[in-house]
Amino acid sequence: MVTHIYHGVFGVKNMKSSLQIQDISVPSGTKAQGFLNVVGTSVKLPIVIVNGANDGQTLLVTAGIHGGEYPSIEAAIRFGRELDPTVVNGAVIVMSPVSLNAFHARQAFLVPEDGKNLNRVFPGKALGTVAERMAYTIMNAVAPHISAWVDLHGGDIPEALIPLVGCATSDDAQLWEQSLAMAEAFGIPYLMPLNSIMGTTVSAATALGIPALLAEAGQLGILDEPNTELLLNGCRSLAQHLAILAGEAQSTTLHIFNGWPWVRSAHSGCWYPTIKVGDIVKAGDLVGVVKDYFGDVLGEYTAPADGLVLLVCAALSVNVNDPLVGIGS
Ligand SMILES: [Zn+2]
Repeated sequence: MVTHIYHGVFGVKNMKSSLQIQDISVPSGTKAQGFLNVVGTSVKLPIVIVNGANDGQTLLVTAGIHGGEYPSIEAAIRFGRELDPTVVNGAVIVMSPVSLNAFHARQAFLVPEDGKNLNRVFPGKALGTVAERMAYTIMNAVAPHISAWVDLHGGDIPEALIPLVGCATSDDAQLWEQSLAMAEAFGIPYLMPLNSIMGTTVSAATALGIPALLAEAGQLGILDEPNTELLLNGCRSLAQHLAILAGEAQSTTLHIFNGWPWVRSAHSGCWYPTIKVGDIVKAGDLVGVVKDYFGDVLGEYTAPADGLVLLVCAALSVNVNDPLVGIGS
């Protein structure tokens, strides 16, 4: 049954229509919660659907695409719970934690069943591996209903990180401006253009013409209140910016980086960073050392560019090709 009338923009809800996603049907002015099925797997995706009493845009909030990013997962859960459909214009769909399998395995970055990074396999495949089918389900069951998407992340369990936002670059100048406006409303000033990272939620959304924002806060497997509040307030303000909620959105002056060079490990061994997130580094500065299990140095690592240290691997254990340091340059 077609329950939506679209007028050239994805997910602008009209006619006070009900909202149906898989077998969950949500009449106008109500909210519902449940799980989406991922066809061909036993995976369930938690979902809260808040179908507003009034017309407006539809915002998708995802978190827990990576299972150990706890403040983002908690912020999304709280946002879904607090929304009152009688005062919502349009709709809000909240999915958190998306990767329940990684969440319960306490598995950083990867979906345990197939070892894939869910945020590198979007838009997914109908007949793919578990992660690919999870992405496919979101893109095909949920994304057709939405007009904006914010995907909440943070540093995963072994990762130190300072808060940042990201938007996928696009040839469509209007789409880029819409995504930037979402970033201004979210309230985190450091913005990374995501031109080279394909397979992400925001790149898949942008490919469909849906403005999208990556927002990262929290780190090291710690559920802390400041980062949870930062992300929750960002979601509220973003909903205000989209006129889904009443009130004035915050407007943050963005610092837009040119790029995000990462230092990756060429060795398996023990990692000893000599910098921390928030440090300013110059190209060529020592950022850390990898040693073997006897304390002998295997390699010294230096900053590839001047910039701000955004993320640092906080685990002693590193493998070949693991990210060690990410720099906003
Ligand atoms: Zn993440």
